[in-house]
Amino acid sequence: MPSPTLTFLGAVGTVTGSRFLVEGDGGRILVDAGLFQGIGELRRRNWMPPPVDPAALDAVVLTHAHLDHSGYLPRLVRDGFTGSIYCTEATAELASIVLEDSAHLQAEDAGYANKTGYSSHRPALPLYDAGDVEKTVRLFRPTDLLTRVAVAPGVSITLRPAGHILGSSTAEVEIDGTRALFSGDLGRPRHPLLPPPAVPPAVDTVVVESTYGDREHPRPDDELLASAVTRTAARGGTVLIPAFAVDRTELVLLELHRLMAAGRIPHLTVYVDSPMALASLDVYRKALAAKDLTHREASLFDLPEVQAVRDAAGSERLNRPTVPCIVVSASGMATGGRVVHHLRHQLPDPRNTVVLTGYQAVGTRGRQLLNGARQVKMHGRYVPVHADVVQIPDFSVHADGPEIVRWLGRMPSPPRTVYVVHGEPASSAALADRIHHELGWNAVVPSFGERVRLD
Ligand SMILES: [Zn+2]
Repeated sequence: MPSPTLTFLGAVGTVTGSRFLVEGDGGRILVDAGLFQGIGELRRRNWMPPPVDPAALDAVVLTHAHLDHSGYLPRLVRDGFTGSIYCTEATAELASIVLEDSAHLQAEDAGYANKTGYSSHRPALPLYDAGDVEKTVRLFRPTDLLTRVAVAPGVSITLRPAGHILGSSTAEVEIDGTRALFSGDLGRPRHPLLPPPAVPPAVDTVVVESTYGDREHPRPDDELLASAVTRTAARGGTVLIPAFAVDRTELVLLELHRLMAAGRIPHLTVYVDSPMALASLDVYRKALAAKDLTHREASLFDLPEVQAVRDAAGSERLNRPTVPCIVVSASGMATGGRVVHHLRHQLPDPRNTVVLTGYQAVGTRGRQLLNGARQVKMHGRYVPVHADVVQIPDFSVHADGPEIVRWLGRMPSPPRTVYVVHGEPASSAALADRIHHELGWNAVVPSFGERVRLD
């Protein structure tokens, strides 16, 4: 009988492209099927044929809806995957929204590449289209938390709350008598809306994320955001907040509302300019109403100052606002979406402020702004950066190094091996060191494509 194995097909040396192949006598499943994002060398991996025939996969387990965990699913389906995709109900709802938007962006990118002749493929093709997404969504199997579910003849899974975004879970996989726990993206002990990550079960193998593995989040300081908004309004500028459509938009709106209600920032109109963020907001509202979220005031999502921008014409009108306002738009790392045309118009004006609210991966425009770039390339042109750029770390929904180690330390017994993934190389190495020193466990940073035995 061959040993069950785990192969690292992504999220190694990078925070994107989460894909983990688990194979054994019982079957063959993939945990997460994320898109590679950021530098071209990574993005090209989305086009490489997967080392396993998608038609030969029994199932996929999806930890949460973010694109770097779900965005490759429609391509798997296009290439022949017909099995079930197990995830929580909220993840199924949010992932449907995220993938529809992704198909749209893929089409836009391909169209742009064809128009400008900028592509190594001729004609440039989208990775997948809306039809592939439709087929993918039909494969979602909403699964209850804390319930053991058989997903292939010898493989079962248990999902537990991960506290990262609505619907997010860790995934415990049992195969051929051995157990592995995948953290997915791990939230912090305190999220304004979600319960904290569940205590991890005793398992043989852990695969843990390390986005902020080399860092400790600073103490929250709401003065950073308050002063940025107040300063910008005083000089007649616009505050532009690129935000991940799912979860980040919700947290940003809650915080802006809280600061306005406390009289700490002026009452400005807040435009939510992202169809995906608006759709996600509806899913959050529904979960609040169903009490799946912990916030006590459901009405907080009916914020009087929030204006939904649904059509492209409305979005374009926001390029030249006549009075100070706040624009929240996706994508969070400014890699695509409506926020790119806002940046093109807002960055050259020193009265404006761009507020970065999340992780900015290497190779993204967000990362360039964070690093103090004096110009950023958009739509083929270099745009000068005269606007203020401010980063607010408080919105992070990833546990930092000490928080991850505390979470791991709650396991009833030590695992044989912890594999540290989903981080840039320095973050993963630092977390592996911390696990080794503080817990005395065997902690390894795997390499891309590496295969290990689980038994
Ligand atoms: Zn995530």
